[in-house]
Amino acid sequence: MLCLSADGTLPKIDIAVFADTGWEPKKVYEHLDRLEREVAAPAGIPIVRVSSGNIRNDALDPNHRFASMPLYILNQDGKQGMTRRQCTGEYKIKPIKKKIREIIGYPYPSRVPKGVFVEQWVGISTDEFHRAKDSGVQYMHNAHPLIDIGWSRVDCVRYLERLGLADTPKSSCLGCPFHGNAQWRTIRDTSPSEWADVVEFDAAIRQGNARANATGNPLLGQAYLHRSRVPLSEAPIDHVTAAEWAALQQETGAPDAEDLEAGVVDGCSPWACRGEQPEPVRDDFGLAV
Ligand code: SF4
Repeated sequence: MLCLSADGTLPKIDIAVFADTGWEPKKVYEHLDRLEREVAAPAGIPIVRVSSGNIRNDALDPNHRFASMPLYILNQDGKQGMTRRQCTGEYKIKPIKKKIREIIGYPYPSRVPKGVFVEQWVGISTDEFHRAKDSGVQYMHNAHPLIDIGWSRVDCVRYLERLGLADTPKSSCLGCPFHGNAQWRTIRDTSPSEWADVVEFDAAIRQGNARANATGNPLLGQAYLHRSRVPLSEAPIDHVTAAEWAALQQETGAPDAEDLEAGVVDGCSPWACRGEQPEPVRDDFGLAV
């Protein structure tokens, strides 16, 4: 959408916002810098980076309230579960709303008068129109220009290829549990230091988040980044096991193994989440229920 706005296909936007969880892959930050240099700046579009903190550090900091990631849980009785996803709201939606309020002159907690709003574009293509949602606040009106111009994901990819941006990486936290095996393999096979980072993080959250443990609410079970609920360093990321396939079908009702291989196809996008989490979900990361 930034490129389409910069080249005049779509109207010119006032700003583009990047919500930084602090734990994106290096290539995402590099790509963002490139977009800023080669596309946004020449078109006079500022890219504003906003953040609520560093999701990785916060998870491991006993003094920090942690908005939980959607971790795979193995309960003491052997049952499987997940922790509720709070991270998208905390690390993406919240800082964007805060910045928008500042820009329109009504920083929190001041009341935004009725009729004052920004139009916010969310990049959903025609093949995922079901993800289009309201912003949930009256001072931001969501619009979906890709749907308006009838572009599918393939159209977007072709357009990026034409612009020399075929290598546009998918934005998500390096250790996002929604990664599919293909994404885990890419990290392992192309970036040893980032692989070491996610393996270390996976081991560090096994007993729950640091804050919950420090406050006497340990996780009664074990937490994992990989769907197989096996330590990431040993997880079967090179193939789809029968157990994973069965678990996936149970969790999502997905008709094929695409998600397991490719991860959450739609990624983690503010206002365009994939939908509800599979059940069962733990009410709070670290709190046994
Ligand atoms: S990419 Fe994953 S871990 Fe990061 S905010 Fe989104 S859902 Fe949470």
